[in-house]
Amino acid sequence: MDSIFALASAAGRAGVAVYRLSGPKVAETVRSLTGADLPPPRRAVFRSIFHKGELIDQGLVIWFPAPASFTGEDVAELQIHGGRAVAQALTEALRASGLRPAEPGEFSRRAFEAGKLDLTQAEAIADLVDAETAAQRRQALRQMDGALLRLYEDWRERLLRAQAHLEAEIDFSDEDLPGGLSEAARLSLQDMMAEMSLHLADGHRGERLRDGLHATILGSPNVGKSSLLNRIAGREAAIVSSQAGTTRDVIEVHLDLGGYPVVLADTAGLREAGEAVEEEGIRRARARAEAADLKLVVFDASQPVDAAVLELVDDQSLVLLNKSDLAAADFPLKGMAVSAKTGDGLDVLLAELARRAADVLEGSGAPALTRARHRAAIEDALENLRHALHAGLPELAAEDVRLASRALGRITGRVDVEDMLDIIFREFCIGK
Ligand code: GDP
Repeated sequence: MDSIFALASAAGRAGVAVYRLSGPKVAETVRSLTGADLPPPRRAVFRSIFHKGELIDQGLVIWFPAPASFTGEDVAELQIHGGRAVAQALTEALRASGLRPAEPGEFSRRAFEAGKLDLTQAEAIADLVDAETAAQRRQALRQMDGALLRLYEDWRERLLRAQAHLEAEIDFSDEDLPGGLSEAARLSLQDMMAEMSLHLADGHRGERLRDGLHATILGSPNVGKSSLLNRIAGREAAIVSSQAGTTRDVIEVHLDLGGYPVVLADTAGLREAGEAVEEEGIRRARARAEAADLKLVVFDASQPVDAAVLELVDDQSLVLLNKSDLAAADFPLKGMAVSAKTGDGLDVLLAELARRAADVLEGSGAPALTRARHRAAIEDALENLRHALHAGLPELAAEDVRLASRALGRITGRVDVEDMLDIIFREFCIGK
């Protein structure tokens, strides 16, 4: 196994930079870099770091001998100064010691291969690093703690047990086994199918929480879409211009509303005709609007209602009447009065967005699946179980159940025949 290293903290100038080393060469490398014995395990020790007899820097060294480390291998962490020259010198020294720069995710991959975490936990680490809001952080932490792992492993174990029952029926059909085995298996499969269906019917909450609730701003040109977005973002994210059609592409702003992530996108004005670039912008705007979780349909309250845009309003849309500072008193449409110019009504708008985000993203407490990969595997498992229920022979049912448990095993990365054997022997004591 190669020994690897990586800058674990963000790149660039910083007070402290954290380097992580993993693999069989780490012990020797730390000894030679520090010119001293290895520090006691898991204690931060201040050391000078040398390369070719020259002092590179001084900092903290933490030694995590295998197997009690993140990757299960010998691991060391060096906390040194985050300067470019220091980084360069240390990288050179580590390469000279036979370590290579790690691939993305390679530490977590080694941790997975060492059985320190399953795939859902590895994914949760990535999510935690990417988390921008409190709700995202909480979801990632729960998953890292094994919430999904436990759920899927529980299902998989029950499937393995059902499979073992079915196989016992095949192998020992002429012997006296307790009656009603296959009926028991059938009931337990049906229970599991109900649980899986419920888990899938979560409105994609976990996936959406990872990605953010997507809200798209729609409306005719010049109603103030970019101005609204800018006002909300509090920065110049889109070009604001009094000329029609300057927002040529989709511009996104990521918001944290009460802990929930909302991605607000401004789109090209929905206007017929125009130059080619503009048409492309409009095409993307429509596509975006169709994919959005929520539409903010903006009208200019000082102008007549645009009938074409009115058609885009559905039950889920928020209708915004912008330019309330100029509004005609008898505007013939109900909606939230806002003004991108004065900021009026924006608090109410943001509170409403936060409320809708919470509605969609807030969970019941049950762990939510967070990736399409999980969803696809559970759908596979369900399909196999549907087959199993209709299989005429226990042999066929057992095979379907086996496929279902393999599908679940793919989520956690724990597909293993040993489990199967364990269950058979533990439950049936066949050794006669
Ligand atoms: P978009 O094409 O829908 O993105 O519209 P813009 O954001 O580019 O705004 C078009 C014009 O309307 C600009 O001149 C803005 O300054 C102006 N505008 C936008 N919002 C308001 C508002 O609430 N009140 C007033 N009086 N003018 C606004």
